[in-house]
Amino acid sequence: MASVKLINVNKVYDGGVHAVHDFSIDIKDREFIVFVGPSGCGKSTTLRMIAGLEEISYGEFYIDDVLMNSAAPKDRDIAMVFQSYALYPQMTVYNNMAYALKLRKVPKEEIDRRVREAAAILKLTPYLDRKPRALSGGQRQRVALGRSIVRRPKVFLMDEPLSNLDAKLRVAMRSEIVRIHEEVGATTIYVTHDQIEAMTMASRIVVMKDGFIQQIGTPNEVYQHPANLFVAGFIGTPAMNFLYGDLSGGVFAVRGCDQKIALTDDQRELLKDYEGHGFVYGVRPENLIYEKDERFEKYKANSFEMKVGIIELLGDILNVHGKTGDADVIVKMPNKYVIKEGDVIKVAIEPGYARFFNETTTKAITPEYCAYEEVEVTQSLDEDNVTIIEQKKGVFARAAEAIKKKFAKKEKPAEEKPEGEEEAAQEAETPEETEEKTE
Ligand code: ADP
Repeated sequence: MASVKLINVNKVYDGGVHAVHDFSIDIKDREFIVFVGPSGCGKSTTLRMIAGLEEISYGEFYIDDVLMNSAAPKDRDIAMVFQSYALYPQMTVYNNMAYALKLRKVPKEEIDRRVREAAAILKLTPYLDRKPRALSGGQRQRVALGRSIVRRPKVFLMDEPLSNLDAKLRVAMRSEIVRIHEEVGATTIYVTHDQIEAMTMASRIVVMKDGFIQQIGTPNEVYQHPANLFVAGFIGTPAMNFLYGDLSGGVFAVRGCDQKIALTDDQRELLKDYEGHGFVYGVRPENLIYEKDERFEKYKANSFEMKVGIIELLGDILNVHGKTGDADVIVKMPNKYVIKEGDVIKVAIEPGYARFFNETTTKAITPEYCAYEEVEVTQSLDEDNVTIIEQKKGVFARAAEAIKKKFAKKEKPAEEKPEGEEEAAQEAETPEETEEKTE
C-alpha cells in the first residue's frame, strides 16, 4: 500500500495542448481519490501520467516518497482498470484472474491462494469455472477488478470503469467497488465525469476544469463549501441556483427585477465590503423553502417570488423550475403540493446554506476569503496554438490579508503491471472487447 504525491505536474502534448496545469496533491495510503470534471478537463491525462502511459512534461510524481517520473510503467507497481475491460473469452474466470500471475511465474499454489482470496472478496467464487460470456456485466467488471487485485499493486487506477454498464448496474457496482476498496485497502485513484459517482465513492474529490484543479475536498466539503462558481454548479443535481445582484443598504437586490433578499447579521458582516457592488448569491434547490412549508415563516425575511415554469416529478420529489426576474431558479420540494406552470410562488432561503461568490473571479466569498479577488486569470492561444496564461490585476484589487484579519474566525478546512503499455495494448486487442461491453 502506498502514498502518492504530485507536485506541480503539467502535461503539454506535442502540438502545444496544455492539458494539465500544476496538478498538486498529497494522497495518503488507503485513500479513495476521485478525479471528476467535464470531458476534456485533463482527468485521464493525469491518470495516464501516474500510470506511466504518458510522459510528465514537468513537475514531480512520487510513490512512497520515491520519485517516479521516469520509472517504466511495470516498475511503478500500479494496476489500471479501464472502461473497456477486455476479458479473454476463451479462458475461465479463474484463468482470467490467474493469467498475469502465470506470466510473472508466480508459484502455482500462490496463484491459487490469491485468485481464491480475490474471488471471495469479489463474490465470484461460484463463477470461477465459467467463461466471461456466461456472466452478467457487473460480474465481468468484477473479474476485471479481480485481475488487478491478485497482483497486489501499491496503487489502483480506474478510468471510468463503470461507464459501459447500464444505470442500475452502475449504482450496484459503485457500492461494490467501495466495499472492495475497504477490504483490499489499496490507495485508489478513480476517474469519472459523473459527479454522483464522485460524491458516493470518494474519500476526497478533485474537481477539475480546463486542466486546472478547482478544488480538493471531501464530498461534503465540495458540496457544502464549493470553492468557486464552477464547483458550485458542477456538484449537485439539480445544480445550485445563482442569483446575480448588488448589495445596497445591507440588502441584496436581484438584478433585472425588484426582488430584494435580506441578509442575516453574519452575512452582512461577511459582505460589508461589497456594499455598493455586485456578487453572486448561491443557494441549492433543496434550501429554498416553499411558502406552504411550515418552515417558511421562520425564513420569511429571506424570501423572494418566482414564476413557475416546468415541473419535474421525480416520485417523492418535485423539481420546480421557474424564474425570478431574468434568473432561472429551481426549487426541490416534497411531492405533496399542488403547483402548476404559471403560478407565482414565494420561496425562502435557508440562510445558513446560502453561499456567496465574487462575480469577477468566481471565487467563493468566505470569512477566510472575502475580498474582491486580486488577480484574474485568462487563457488564450497564440498563433502556434500554445496556451497563454495571463494574470491581470482585478479592478477591485484589495489587500486580502487585511480583510482576512477582520474576519479571523474559524479556520477553513484544508483541503497487469500498470496495465503497462504492452499489456494495455495487448488487452485492447482481444476480440472480447466489443462483445463484452454490453450486458
Ligand atoms: P478527460 O479525461 O478529462 O476527458 P483528457 O485528459 O482525455 O480529458 O484530455 C485533456 C485535454 O488534452 C483535451 O483537450 C484533449 O483533447 C487533450 N488531449 C488528450 N490526449 C491528447 C493527445 N494525445 N494529443 C493532444 N491532445 C490530447
